[in-house]
Amino acid sequence: MSIGDFAPIRPARLHWQDHTPVATDYDDPYFSRQDGRAESHYVFLQGNRLPERFAALADGDGFVIGETGFGTGLNMLLAAALFRRLAPAGARLDLFSVEKHPLTAADLDRALAAWPDTADTPEWDALRDALRQQYPPASPGCHRLWLADNVSLTLMLGEAEPLWRLCPAQVDAWFLDGFAPARNGDMWQPALFRQLAAHSRPRATLATFTAAGAVRRGLADAGFQVQRIDGFGHKRHMVVGSFGADPAAWRPARQRRGQALVVGAGLAGATAARALAERGWQVTVLDPAGIATAASGNHAGVVYSTPSPHLTAQNRFYQLSYGHALRWLARHRFPGDGQGALNGVVQHYVDDKQSAKIRAAADSGAWPDSLLLAGDHRAELRGGGYLNPPAWCRTLLDHPAIRVRQAAVTALASGTPALATLDDGEQMNADAIVIATAGAAKQLTVDGATLDWLPLKLIRGQVSYCAATEASTAWQQAQCHGGYLTPALDGLHCVGATFDLHNPDPAPRDQDDADNLAQLRHHLPDHWAELGGEHIQVVNRRVGLRCQSTDFLPLAGPLPDPARDDLAALPGLWLNIAHGSRGITGTPLCAEILADRISDAPPPADRPLLDALDPGRFLRRKKKKLKVKS
Ligand code: SAM
Repeated sequence: MSIGDFAPIRPARLHWQDHTPVATDYDDPYFSRQDGRAESHYVFLQGNRLPERFAALADGDGFVIGETGFGTGLNMLLAAALFRRLAPAGARLDLFSVEKHPLTAADLDRALAAWPDTADTPEWDALRDALRQQYPPASPGCHRLWLADNVSLTLMLGEAEPLWRLCPAQVDAWFLDGFAPARNGDMWQPALFRQLAAHSRPRATLATFTAAGAVRRGLADAGFQVQRIDGFGHKRHMVVGSFGADPAAWRPARQRRGQALVVGAGLAGATAARALAERGWQVTVLDPAGIATAASGNHAGVVYSTPSPHLTAQNRFYQLSYGHALRWLARHRFPGDGQGALNGVVQHYVDDKQSAKIRAAADSGAWPDSLLLAGDHRAELRGGGYLNPPAWCRTLLDHPAIRVRQAAVTALASGTPALATLDDGEQMNADAIVIATAGAAKQLTVDGATLDWLPLKLIRGQVSYCAATEASTAWQQAQCHGGYLTPALDGLHCVGATFDLHNPDPAPRDQDDADNLAQLRHHLPDHWAELGGEHIQVVNRRVGLRCQSTDFLPLAGPLPDPARDDLAALPGLWLNIAHGSRGITGTPLCAEILADRISDAPPPADRPLLDALDPGRFLRRKKKKLKVKS
């Protein structure tokens, strides 16, 4: 169900004229029937002077292209190919494109099959395959893909004007590529042009195939200087423009990189370290106990999400982070043999309320069927699965720019550089420090004060490790009910987990194993029987203290200074905590957002979502309440 600016997505309906896709609802082709690729090159790449600008970039420069109308991705792929050919490997291209009606994956394949690799776009096949492999589900909001090591694509699914209004990116070059203005007024309206202006860096350029008078006037009214030039092929004119005079004086933005410290080597720390390393940071991860020894240390965990029809920021985070986690796992080729499988998760409905909610999520279109198949008694989360979290953390930390050190941090000081003090008194400088220590964050002192304002709860969860039987070895998919049951990994099934808000005792309890098995018996009696029924062998157990915030969302962003009225960020200090029992699913998106914000690169999330994850939100709410009262 629509909430605010977000509504379920309806995919494009198209038909074909020879090899050209035509949008049935707009009765307009996606690109020129003559030679779409040549037209795109002329209008959008040359119209924005991308060949010269890309060639002039230096290592550490960032370049952002914004587009209205992703369609088949032709423009974006051509821009990426040009960038790969001309820009230095240490520069980064971020593509942001909005699309209200995404093509289905099958239509995308068919549309892109028309363009073979050629001499002037030697990377075409690799870029196109990356797009096809990572093409996101049709769910509203931002989806971040990586087309190459230094080329990201953020597909913003939904209506152009609100999504550009809420987008955090500032753009260097615009591709305005809606359907013909007479048929697609929303894409050429003054309110959208104002957003393009608001998201333009000084002297940003634009190009569009149309030279319609209303478009030129609208762009000029929004603050662009526009100029009509020769069009492509039989088209008389097209339009180019710039935001501010003297576009030749445009300069690229620099992205930050340097030395980073990540405190904590669980899922939150490992994903953050990896995202920073991939952006050119040198990263040291500090943890006294080594990799994935606390709540991220279970033998198996489930990659899943909780579908809801309501598109609140919280539910959108659960959904978008799920898709994002699946893309990260695929990119890092995880899980490998014996580490788990991504073959779908079965969600058994525990009561009528849950069944109604999940079925409404599917029926409303908020969760497309490429993600969720909801039946009468159970649902399947497609693409999800189970994996060994410590192995996933080790895979993430296996990067030449990451060093893991067994050491405990006791105090931090903000600043440029920021400072970490270790328990042996050693001090370490860094350009950025990420706190990823879950509930233990409260014990850290920062600039001499503890972080006791953090609104965190610890939830004790015990998982029972049960010996596989001949029958249970055949199980393929993870099962969720009130708890969960994973297929065998190294001959062990995880049956979990208890949920105890009031007892932070890390010692395992027999009663908790009994509760886990009773829950399994109640919800999945056949599985319980195949696992041995009354004779199930619990060979081990593990207690984790999951850290959750009071609004159930992670804290991922700059650490605010609670002493300041404006709650300004403390220089150099960042938080990535409170992933609760959803760490496998939520951490890749939080890491990506954090690493981009730390690097001064545009993060892959709309502003309401960034605000919903912002660590300062609790302090802001408190201040607002106090103001209302006084
Ligand atoms: N740039 C595309 C390419 O390289 O294939 C072609 C874009 S096609 C001409 C126009 C696109 O704008 C279509 O994919 C259409 O679904 C999208 N669109 C139309 N109205 C929209 C709106 N109000 N918000 C967002 N996208 C919209």
